[in-house]
Parts: sequence; C-alpha cells; structure tokens
Amino acid sequence: MIMNSFDSALPDEKGYFGEYGGSFIPPQLQEIMDEITKAYLEIRKDPEFVKELGELYQYYVGRPSPIFHAKNLSAKYGADIYLKREDLNHTGAHKINHTLGEALLAKKMGKKKLIAETGAGQHGVALATAAALVGLECEIHMGEVDIAKEYPNVVRMKILGANIVPATHGRKTLKEAVDSAFQAYLADPHSQLFAIGSVVGPHPFPMMVRDFQSIVGNEAKEQFQALRGELPENIIACVGGGSNALGIFSAFLEDQEVALYGVEPAGRDIETIGEHAATMSKGTPGVMHGFKSYMLQDEKGEPEEVYSVASGLDYPAVGPQHSYLKDIKRVNYVTANDAEAIDAFFELSRLEGIIPAIESSHALAYALKFAQKEGKGSTILVNLSGRGDKDIDFVVENYGEQYGIPKV
Ligand SMILES: *Cc1c(COP(=O)(O)O)cnc(C)c1O
Repeated sequence: MIMNSFDSALPDEKGYFGEYGGSFIPPQLQEIMDEITKAYLEIRKDPEFVKELGELYQYYVGRPSPIFHAKNLSAKYGADIYLKREDLNHTGAHKINHTLGEALLAKKMGKKKLIAETGAGQHGVALATAAALVGLECEIHMGEVDIAKEYPNVVRMKILGANIVPATHGRKTLKEAVDSAFQAYLADPHSQLFAIGSVVGPHPFPMMVRDFQSIVGNEAKEQFQALRGELPENIIACVGGGSNALGIFSAFLEDQEVALYGVEPAGRDIETIGEHAATMSKGTPGVMHGFKSYMLQDEKGEPEEVYSVASGLDYPAVGPQHSYLKDIKRVNYVTANDAEAIDAFFELSRLEGIIPAIESSHALAYALKFAQKEGKGSTILVNLSGRGDKDIDFVVENYGEQYGIPKV
C-alpha cells in the first residue's frame, strides 16, 4: 500500500516555509493551535493511525486512483498527456484525502464536532462525509447567497447529517461564513476541531493538509514509473488554496528534472482587480486569515474582491508553501482564464469521455496550451482534482449554446 509522507523538512517548528506561513492569531487561539500541532505530530508517527488512514484510502475512497493515458488528447495536442484520476475518489475530488485525516485526528483528540466554513459546498460535503464515517457531529457555516446557489451540495450535507448554519450578514458569501464559523469555534474550541479545507490558515494546517494530500504524488510517482520507466517531464495542477497541487508536487520537489506548474485562475480579465484570482501572478506578500503568503490585497491589507468561473479557485490568498516555492523558483505559476477552462472542459468530455470539474479544467487548459508550444513531444501529468457533475447545469446554462447544446 502506498502511504502519505509524514516526514517533510518543511515547515520549521513555527510553521514557516522560508518567510511564509507562521501563525497570526489571538493568544487564546494560539493555545489551541499548539495543542493541535502537538497532537498531530504525535499521531502521524502512530502506526495505528497511519494504518487506519491507509485502509480508509483503500477501501473507502477507492485508492490508489489510476493514472490514465489520454491518447486522443495526446494525439490532437502533440504531447503525451496523462491524468491522475482524483475525480474517481468517493465524493468525486481530492478533498476527501484530507477531511478523513482531519476527522481521524479530531476523534483521537477526543473532539465531538467538526466545524468549518464552505463556499461552493465541496469542502462541506467532503467534511460531512468524513464526520458521518468517523462518528462525529459536523457543523458547516455557509453564506445565505451560497446556500441558494449551491443547493444540491446543501442537500447532500443535510442527508449526511451535518448541521448547516447560514451566514446572514454582509455579502452573505464565503468571507461571512468564515467569520461565522470562527465565532462558533471560539465559543467552544475544546470540544470542536476547525477543519480547514486547504493548505491555508495558521500552522499546523498548511503542513497537515499537505501531508494528508501527499498520497496523490506518492502514488503518481510509482504509477508513472511503472507505466513509462521514468518520471514525467512536466506536472500540472490547478491552484486555489493549493492542496491538490501540493498533494501531487510534494513527491517530486527534489526531482529537479521534473518541471512543476501551478495554474491560477485568470478569470474574465487578469488585468482588472475583482475579475480574477491569480494570487501569485498579481499579488504581493501580506498577512491574511492567520498566515503570511502572497495575496490579493488593497492598501490596507484587506482582501481584494476575487472572481473565477471555478468557485473552488476564487480565493484571495494561497497556501504559504506555494509562496515559498514561487520565490525559490521550484514551481512555475501560470494562468488559464475562464474561456480556456470551459474549452478544456468540453475537450476532455468529448475526446476522452471524462467530464472534469471546472477547477481541474484550468490545469488541463494550461496543459493543452503548453503541449502545443514549449511542451511539444514531452510527457505531461495533469492532476485531475475532481469530476464535473457539480458543474454541468451551470456550464450548459452559460456556455451550452456555444458548444452545440441549444436551450430547450
Ligand atoms: C476545492 C477544489 C479545488 C481547489 O482547492 P485546492 O486546495 O487548490 O486544491 C480544486 N479542484 C477541485 C475539484 C476542488 O473541489
């Protein structure tokens, strides 16, 4: 069985990747984060925990997820394109890899409840799933506007037994959901674990979520070697908070011959604030949501408005390890815009019979551009972070006619 990596050199003791990361939170919360760090550092060495998580990956999630050689795409675009099929996981994306880890940790720490915010509901569904399995209560905070927009995910969470708390103030979307979840957490931090949904937030979450996701790259490395007898020349993943990208990159960071590409959403217009979420391409270092990283911020350090057609990618910051990997130039951060992502969504659907998540379509869109230019004739491994079932109504409503699906 292929396992997670639980022994990386970074971050340092205080949670820093170079100058990024750390923990910028009130003292009362720092105490709780220290407790989580201590529990996690012990548990990740516990053979029983490692075995339990490994078995859940295998028998519950359906790991290892295969690598698929997309021959039709490869023939059309001129490079050998392979897909790491995280879309085939139970619940349809990579997020289950870390929510299971967080749920097991919470259980071992004696917590009763998992609490989190969710935007489009993907993290909420993955967390509610893990909570149901492990036997914990689950409370998901969600903006009232998002509840209306993402109703199928709200229903899923309710069926799974989660309690949905609407955030009714301000713009009633993700930011307000974060405030609301945070308040509820601070009211009783001892019986609850705040389960962050990506490699973001204060230490230890960027480290912990990365470790739980590292299974993706560890599998991919063995699988690719078995298929081709060598490592891929290029690996491409989309970057929202950055968890699926770090999941697949982690196993290859030391392999300098493997080029790594993180794809940020250029949205409708990368030159206009509020029309994209290209944090590393257009942002600057700062502190937000308890950690230091590149972010899209105004003069006061407040988060800028962000936008992407993929609701899982529109975050104004990025995991601190990505900022570090950008500065040391180990990963190239590039972009794909809305139109390119939608094009890639239909290309994969129609050439390979795989409907990808719009988030994952950004990684694929860059892979297709790259294959036709500098990547001609090379091998490319794309992390297909999730499936597109959640996106089909939106895509057909907004882009159907352009792709030969007239409105009825
Ligand atoms: C949430 C999500 C993402 C973005 O999150 P990361 O932490 O950047 O991986 C990407 N793809 C899918 C399918 C998602 O659900």
